[in-house]
Amino acid sequence: MGQTYIHAVNIALSIAIVCALAAIYRYDRNGKPALWWMLSFIAVLFMGVGAVVLPYLVSEETTRFVLFVFNILAICCLNIGIAWHTGTAVPWRLMETILATAFVVTFLTGLFFPQHMISATVVALSLASAQCVGLYILLRMPSEDRDGVFALFLAVGIVNYMSAPVLELMVIEGIGGLHNAAAIIIDINNSVVMIGLAFFLLFSLSHRLLFDLKGQSETDSLSGLLNRHGFHSAVEKYTDQSESAVTASLIICDLDRFKAINDEYGHHVGDRVIAAFGRLLRAGVREGDLCGRVGGEEFCIYLHNSDIRAARLFAEWLREAFSSISYSELDEDIRFTASFGVAQMSHCEKMESAFRRADKALYVAKRDGRNCVRSCNGVGEPAEQPVIRFEAGPVQNHKV
Ligand code: GH3
Ligand code: MG
Ligand code: MG
Repeated sequence: MGQTYIHAVNIALSIAIVCALAAIYRYDRNGKPALWWMLSFIAVLFMGVGAVVLPYLVSEETTRFVLFVFNILAICCLNIGIAWHTGTAVPWRLMETILATAFVVTFLTGLFFPQHMISATVVALSLASAQCVGLYILLRMPSEDRDGVFALFLAVGIVNYMSAPVLELMVIEGIGGLHNAAAIIIDINNSVVMIGLAFFLLFSLSHRLLFDLKGQSETDSLSGLLNRHGFHSAVEKYTDQSESAVTASLIICDLDRFKAINDEYGHHVGDRVIAAFGRLLRAGVREGDLCGRVGGEEFCIYLHNSDIRAARLFAEWLREAFSSISYSELDEDIRFTASFGVAQMSHCEKMESAFRRADKALYVAKRDGRNCVRSCNGVGEPAEQPVIRFEAGPVQNHKV
């Protein structure tokens, strides 16, 4: 009666966990871990149903073997999910070997040594070694990426499997008055380990999903850059962290006569030009620099550790590189251009005020005929500087 109650609770929990994993799988773009862990808990669900139904239909040995099969399949699915979750290769060969050996040895033991203790020990060893594969997947990762809590959960699972035959022995021997209670203790142990693991898996997946969704909400899909909100919060994070002595610069870029591009060649060509500019920015900036699409055809770049001279050089390089891109569906000689406003951020300066100065410089660049770089070297009016010559490496003409 007690065991049936535990099985009923397990079945209900497994259904809830499978539903939660299915929901995560639906929204997670990288849904393979959720899929495999869902399959794992479907096997756990079958185990629960089998534990209730099979004793009425087949012998005790057959029940044990069928439950063992579901259990080891659940562990294998768990392991595959772990490999996908950690971005490492699934050790198929190792798992196949353990699975095949476990099936054969457990089946033959059940056939030739049906004594309770021997078959229980073989089952426990097989399940524990399958679980060890999951632990191995985690432990072979570099130590800084390794998830210690996850490894601990798997280690507890292994100890739990190995403790089952000892508890079975208590059933047989009636040690410590546990004659009737041992089977229930085994089931409770299994349930506690399963629930703990399930909560941990759900927590890890939803944590990553929220992280991804945050990334998506801060990313512009057309250019692949940060959107306005993402760019502003990333720069703020940067400026809050960095020491006041670090020099940084802002570049605002605006594609020239973009309305005319849309009108003449169509909106889809306009989109391709925005995407090409986004690609150019992503390829051009250094690691740690930030770039975002902050308006329709307006972009902003935050260059850390860069004074205005370096920022102007980079803007010049971008200007030249962008104006040399040709587009496959347009005439070979058609090129588009952009204008650039550059400002150095003074120490402890808020981004908004540097942004305003870069915008003023951009205004001057537009006024001066477009396709040029202008900068604002301090507070107040933009400095009238000659366009500096390109020095930052060769620009290659390319087609998109
Ligand atoms: P200027 O050289 O002075 O910057 O002129 P402009 O035509 O680029 O500037 P304006 O602000 O008049 O026009 C910007 C155009 O950009 C208007 C709008 O339809 C277009 N635009 C904004 N977002 C997108 C987009 O996502 N895709 C496309 N294809 N066009 C866009
Ligand atoms: Mg424009
Ligand atoms: Mg504009």
